[in-house]
Amino acid sequence: ADDVALDPWGSSSVSDYRKLFEEFGIEEFDEILEQVPNPHYLMRRGVIFGHRDYRPVAKALQNDEPAAVLSGFMPTGDPHIGHKLVFDEIIWHQEQGADAYGLIADLEANSARGLSWDEIDEHARNYLLSLLALGFDPEEGELYRQSTNREVQDLAFDLGAEANFSEFQAIYGFDGETDVSHMQSVVTQMADILYPQLEEPKPTVIPVGPDQDPHVRLARDLAERMRFFKVSKAYASFELEDDERALVAEFYERLDPADFDDDTLRCVHVAEALEETPLSELDVSADTLSSALTKLNEAGMEPVRPRTRFFDRRATDDAFDALIDAIEGEKRVYESHVDAFEIDRAAAEDLAREVEVDNGGYGFQPPSSIYHRFMTGLTGGKMSSSIPASHISLLDDPEDGYDKVKAATTGGRETAEEQREKGGKADECPVYELYAYLLAGDDDEFAKRVYDECVGGERLCGDCKEQAAQLMREFLAEHQEKREEVEELLEDADIELES
Ligand code: SF4
Repeated sequence: ADDVALDPWGSSSVSDYRKLFEEFGIEEFDEILEQVPNPHYLMRRGVIFGHRDYRPVAKALQNDEPAAVLSGFMPTGDPHIGHKLVFDEIIWHQEQGADAYGLIADLEANSARGLSWDEIDEHARNYLLSLLALGFDPEEGELYRQSTNREVQDLAFDLGAEANFSEFQAIYGFDGETDVSHMQSVVTQMADILYPQLEEPKPTVIPVGPDQDPHVRLARDLAERMRFFKVSKAYASFELEDDERALVAEFYERLDPADFDDDTLRCVHVAEALEETPLSELDVSADTLSSALTKLNEAGMEPVRPRTRFFDRRATDDAFDALIDAIEGEKRVYESHVDAFEIDRAAAEDLAREVEVDNGGYGFQPPSSIYHRFMTGLTGGKMSSSIPASHISLLDDPEDGYDKVKAATTGGRETAEEQREKGGKADECPVYELYAYLLAGDDDEFAKRVYDECVGGERLCGDCKEQAAQLMREFLAEHQEKREEVEELLEDADIELES
């Protein structure tokens, strides 16, 4: 399948997840599962299959350090069981101690999908009620809508100064016909993604479907660009020898340490130290610096001029002095520092951020993301809000939910006999997905039993669907009851429900 182009507003389905790993640099979630404390069943069952830079979030959760989770909902229709995955992901992170944010992407719904404000209001309310009914704690977390969050709008304005049209063209395929509101909704979304870090930089995860990855990549990029306290930028603005410039520039281009031998690697660490740590905090001797330069030169690294905004906009005399100090080689011992870097680069980055925030900057950490599989539609194909039979809305009458499951396509064989003999194709069965993604809840054994019985030929589709349909009926009835109970919570939550 070649249709892995990721388009947040298209209807593309991602038919080959492996390509995402290769082409877009999304990493496999399985590889970090062990680092996640009490992983959610969606993680354990591989429904959450990929991530971008999730390690810092996992680590923060593990150590009870600040972390955040944020996801947005475009209120274009009723929330359905596919959206429930994201609700669950937000709520799970909140339960693990992260600051949780749920936002209504009303500007995006209006500008990218053309919904009227009245429609948006109604859908927004439905999304939020389901999020609350599933367990989101509005006292601990925050719910907001894009259009009425002043801080988000201000941040969007700032971020917009770092982005430009050609970039949007390249990422989103915008062209001369694209309206300005749509572009504004993109910078707003970037602001949403970075909003949890406004008060304090912290690892932040954005749970999304893989089609939203372009947004995540752009946000990560902007987060880096907003970090003005890059020593390399300052460094590059000096009268430097070419080789010195190369030292800084090379690291700026993010070296892959695997490409270098140990000696060079140490030099890279010096460069890294220069890049990530305020020089006032860094001990580096002139000798070390010059040997690093030589090594890097020997490695044939090309000088590149890093972008420089530091001095013209935000320089402080202290930073300037510290820089000169370091270049003059008046700082001492660096060995221990470099060693420390190898062990804990994150700590050095934190330090750089602290200094940045002290200097009035944002200090954003590049946001992380996790990606879940799309649910297959009950009628086969992609689950779609616009095809009622393909999905089960969280607002569906429980009896209708029951009927839809009963009418679903399966991975079953032509005849019962054949099924007993060869087993069902659970991996291709939308009904099995219902068990794995939702109906089995936290009960892995139950999900596994359904799977094993199916592929082992002990389970036939008629009974299997009957069981699933009953569970779905129960789930919907219970969920809708809870929705009624949380009405009050929603009234109390500090969110404007009408535009
Ligand atoms: Fe799907 Fe159940 Fe049939 Fe297996 S037995 S193919 S899981 S409906």
